[in-house]
Amino acid sequence: MKITDLRIMRGPNYWSVEHPKIIVLKLDLEKLADTLTHEVTGFADRLKRLFPDMYAHRASEGVAGGFFKSVEEGTTFAHVVQHIALELQTMAGMESGYGRCYMAHEQGTHFVIFSYQEERAGEYAAHAALRIAEALIKGEKFKIDEDVDRLHQIREDEYFGPSTYSIVSEAESRGIPYIRLNRHSLIQLGYGVNQKRIQATMTCGTACFAVEIAGDKNATKELLEEAGIPVPKGTTVYDQEELKRAIDRLGYPLVLKPLDGNHGKGATINITNWKDALKGLAAAQQYSGAVMVERYIQGFDFRLLVINKKFVAAAKRTPAMVTGDGASTIKQLVDRANKDPRRGVGHEKALTRIKIDQHTKNILKAKELTTQSVLPEGEVLYLKSTANISTGGTATDVTDLVDPYNILMAERIAGLVGLDICGIDVMTTDIAIPLNEAGGAVLEVNAAPGFRMHISPTYGLPRNVAEPVVDMLFPHGKPARIPIVAVTGTNGKTTTTRLIAHMVKNKGYRVGYTTTEGIYIQDKLLEKGDTTGAYSAQFVLKDPTVDFAVLECARGGLLRSGLGFDQCDIGIVTNVSSDHLGLRDIHTLEDLANVKSVIPKSVSKDGYAILNADDDLVYAMAEGLKCKVAFFSMDENNPRILKHIAKGGLAAVFENGYISIFKNSYKIRIDRVGDVPLTFGGKAKFNIENILAAALAGYVSHFDIEDIKRALRTFIPSPDKTPGRMNLFEFPNFEVLVDYAHNVGGLKAIGGFMEDLEVSRKVGIIAGVGDRRTQDFYEMGQVAGEIFDEIIIRLDNDLRGKTPEEITLPMLQGIEDVAPHKQVKVIPEEMRAIAYALENAEPDSIVAIFTEDVHESVKMVESFKVIQHRSNML
Ligand code: ATP
Ligand code: ATP
Ligand code: MG
Ligand code: MG
Repeated sequence: MKITDLRIMRGPNYWSVEHPKIIVLKLDLEKLADTLTHEVTGFADRLKRLFPDMYAHRASEGVAGGFFKSVEEGTTFAHVVQHIALELQTMAGMESGYGRCYMAHEQGTHFVIFSYQEERAGEYAAHAALRIAEALIKGEKFKIDEDVDRLHQIREDEYFGPSTYSIVSEAESRGIPYIRLNRHSLIQLGYGVNQKRIQATMTCGTACFAVEIAGDKNATKELLEEAGIPVPKGTTVYDQEELKRAIDRLGYPLVLKPLDGNHGKGATINITNWKDALKGLAAAQQYSGAVMVERYIQGFDFRLLVINKKFVAAAKRTPAMVTGDGASTIKQLVDRANKDPRRGVGHEKALTRIKIDQHTKNILKAKELTTQSVLPEGEVLYLKSTANISTGGTATDVTDLVDPYNILMAERIAGLVGLDICGIDVMTTDIAIPLNEAGGAVLEVNAAPGFRMHISPTYGLPRNVAEPVVDMLFPHGKPARIPIVAVTGTNGKTTTTRLIAHMVKNKGYRVGYTTTEGIYIQDKLLEKGDTTGAYSAQFVLKDPTVDFAVLECARGGLLRSGLGFDQCDIGIVTNVSSDHLGLRDIHTLEDLANVKSVIPKSVSKDGYAILNADDDLVYAMAEGLKCKVAFFSMDENNPRILKHIAKGGLAAVFENGYISIFKNSYKIRIDRVGDVPLTFGGKAKFNIENILAAALAGYVSHFDIEDIKRALRTFIPSPDKTPGRMNLFEFPNFEVLVDYAHNVGGLKAIGGFMEDLEVSRKVGIIAGVGDRRTQDFYEMGQVAGEIFDEIIIRLDNDLRGKTPEEITLPMLQGIEDVAPHKQVKVIPEEMRAIAYALENAEPDSIVAIFTEDVHESVKMVESFKVIQHRSNML
């Protein structure tokens, strides 16, 4: 077996719209192509032994044990790889659970699709699954621990921490989308101007000064003390002499800790004599010269959490500990504690495994113990000095027990420090007693407090503390999204996208849009190039100034990684015709239509799919959509339109020379086609189609008819505004058309336009784009043969591995078959071909240039124009 292609989908995609996060593997089964699992002796047993929990996989049987049954009865090894990849991820705490297998076009090759939580883990699981499957087939000994460990590691390194995860999933449950902005926990919630950002439990609204105050233990203590909040009495010292004086004033018992420490590093608790005080000073000074001396407060560690000025949860925290049984060593007790299934690696589970690290060894040493010591029955041994869950501590939810005095105090503290999400560390004997009465104190205030102890406490009720965070960021009624119009189809995407963007901009929005030419924000070109994939869509959606997005979504991006957004409000499909077939596993027009149908399938429930009713494949996409549908057609009597209207549906049609919206059998005329510059006096029929789609998009966005009309009138096709789209140049005695058409559909569209022209001769410069099939070149030739009186064939710079003849011969054949004896020339180099055509242009003729490099071609044509003018003047 070998992997011939591995793609990571990150949004709705060709293979699955509902499962955006999937790995798509192309697996060549090689020698195993004709072997099923039951034909390999012992395979099923070995698989079961290695992965007993795979019993839960239902597969197509739909019941537990289903997959094992199909392995026994015989299934493909592609199917096995799929299930191992899923199971490995589950074993590493990343259950994801969706998988499928399909036959690929190539003999013996399959697509293996499976979901992931973390893409790097998914990728790793793919390769590991293959290795493991092969070892199982051969009956080799195999240990999967290493792979599972590695996956655990990836999860720890890459996946969201529990706090971030809780906020992201709370947002998702409300339909708020998220984009991960870096490999860590910087997350964007929502899109464009409506976005909010979080980093773990810091938000874009967390005040910087508040974080600074909280980070300065002394400043915090002073602030709280002045507000009448109990804090441990204490001072800061730098040397032994100052320590002595401080002790004289404070008395024992004491705590010494570095001024700006964390995780309890360098802290010594409950010091009762001068000898220990000196040791404590030295320990703290390993971390900072300044050392806090504080009264030792008796009790337990509590954490109070305040979000958006309101107390939301409290937890009692206990450091990692073991209780002796009079027989086991400390090491054995720790190992036993770690067997608790709630304990996992890092943040994987509710609790973290206890590590006997240097910190623990120091504690043991101070008590004159080692890991081999046997602890007397009932004796409690704390293994860490702080109660952090990440070092193996436990948490008990005590939210309902907190005394109202303490609640008020917590809310006051959050306000005094100024934190929107505030964790307050309190030491007291009982949180149900007012802190001042219990003799407790506030030890510290934390910015970015962890949520794990509240979301999944070891004991007590889990609290959804992510809810108030999302409530704060997106108060009821405040939008998180911005309108998104997505445009796909074989031809007309860029034109339609630009036209809609123009309309939206005139309506006063700040529009971000992507096209094959680049990414624009408010008409400013910010990134040049073919920007029609997920990256570009997210570029726009991440922009904090954009309040409306119009996104051209091309086939390439969809197949590479899926859409860059989870859903859109309007999804347009202009048409589906032969282009790029044979590439990226798309072999038929139906396959291609399935790729494009991802757009309408991704439209939100209340949104609109705008579909071309004149195109059978596009029309068929309406079937089974969850959103509303509007159709457009060049024929108001198209039975599909009539049927749709009869049911109260919405449509746009070209009728009696008008662009009209058809609603409940009423026609709303938007404008006369002759008055819309993009139609070139009505001659560019294909642009009427694009206009119909754009007009519908405006209409369902609740734009006024007047606004739509104004946009149509002011969208002037020109090399500046719509480079390479029907750019016409008038020479004194002939015309030149520069266009980007590069497939049969596009060429036919231009042919339709040229039909109505009154010219003496039509010359076409056409090209074969390297990555097409022979039959595509042949058809291009045929169509060109029908349109033009004279044809010049040129070649693209990059022939993608083909020889010139492989491209030109079928084209010549195509021309020959429909129009024998046409004047045909092959001039490979594009600029030379253009020069030749212009130099030899006859009076009243038109030269149509289908170009790869719009910019250069337009420059060339314009330079000719100048020369022509000059020669006319002479
Ligand atoms: P972390 O980063 O885990 O919050 P830290 O380095 O900021 O730790 P503190 O929170 O000040 O340190 O103290 C760590 C632990 O030491 C506390 O949770 C508490 O158990 C104990 N402690 C600190 N100061 C006192 C005190 N004055 N009296 C009693 N115990 C204390
Ligand atoms: P690409 O796949 O290169 O991004 P596109 O779908 O963005 O193309 P446009 O750039 O809008 O399409 O148009 C390219 C050319 O396709 C036009 O100049 C015209 O020749 C042709 N075309 C445009 N709209 C249509 C249409 N609705 N039907 C058929 N052909 C069209
Ligand atoms: Mg602390
Ligand atoms: Mg385009």
